[in-house]
Amino acid sequence: MIARDEPLDTYLVHNPESVFHTPVESTVLDPDNPYVLAPHLCAAAAEIPLTEADFDLFGPQTPQLLSKLEKRKLLRRRSSGWHWTRKERAADLTDIRGSGGKPVQVVEADTGRLLGTVDAGAAHTTVHEGAVHLHQGRTYVVRRLDLEDSAALVDEASPPWTTMARDTTSLAVLETEAEVPWGEARLCFGSVEVTNQVVSYLRRRLITGEVLGETKLDLPPRTLRTRAVWWTVTDDQLDAARINPEILEGALHAAEHAAIGMLPLFATCDRWDIGGVSIALHPDTLLPTVFVYDGQPGGAGFAERAFHTARDWLTATRDAIAACECEAGCPSCIQSPKCGNANDPLHKRGAIRLLTELLRSAT
Ligand SMILES: [Zn+2]
Ligand SMILES: [Zn+2]
Repeated sequence: MIARDEPLDTYLVHNPESVFHTPVESTVLDPDNPYVLAPHLCAAAAEIPLTEADFDLFGPQTPQLLSKLEKRKLLRRRSSGWHWTRKERAADLTDIRGSGGKPVQVVEADTGRLLGTVDAGAAHTTVHEGAVHLHQGRTYVVRRLDLEDSAALVDEASPPWTTMARDTTSLAVLETEAEVPWGEARLCFGSVEVTNQVVSYLRRRLITGEVLGETKLDLPPRTLRTRAVWWTVTDDQLDAARINPEILEGALHAAEHAAIGMLPLFATCDRWDIGGVSIALHPDTLLPTVFVYDGQPGGAGFAERAFHTARDWLTATRDAIAACECEAGCPSCIQSPKCGNANDPLHKRGAIRLLTELLRSAT
């Protein structure tokens, strides 16, 4: 293993026993998630018609989902069971991997050659117009992103810069399903709606990372209904942690980044499977709040796992930031490669004090 500039890798270097002395990890999957289960029912029915005898295999949500799939005319019920009705393969028509929409094809504009695909959820960020796109060691620039046809047209080119999309994200709490008091702080889990819009991109010089300019983009907002874990702290706790309004956003944002970077240690996921929002005054909680959410519709079980292991997860997060030798934050601790806000603002010492205060009464 070669450690990279990431919070998780930093933590592993300082705590190697978390790799060498821990049992085999548990895989996180929520098989009752309708966004996961429905495409699998379609794919199964396309092989052999599904019968009631199969319900146990697919879990308690099965009957309910089958009737929905019937209504959508994807399956038809006959005496022998539920049949797949389409000519197409179920795996082509439905999104069997639950990645949230049809993948975007990356096509070389002049030759029509298909280079590869990008997940629908990532397309706005990675193959927007003007994006520098790497494919098998070659560099391409996106000429046009056609959202209707799910295609990105690219030209081979080697500009002396990389691109980085900037986005804005807001989040609404739909339902709080579980809540645990940690002293004055609250740890919650529930359903949320995340609205994300890629608004511009930065061009950054290769090697130095110097910003060369920002270009506006005209892309529609995307909404995602999913599950999230979140925590709130009170004004008294901010006082106790010596966090004044000037550094509050930076402290919350830094804690959010590091917590996302650390979650793969507790839930088998990649930091790119999860997202976060931190805000000094959230309209639903009316308090400083940090959210970490599953990047897939309906949730994928990561935020739920985070909720159940929150004390260990956030303790490891605080320890990882504190153990990092940098002065004011670096990619090994609180900076994130996927930050939609170009890692601004961030406050390292504030994040450590905030997490310490949050965890003071954690159970
Ligand atoms: Zn650092
Ligand atoms: Zn960020």
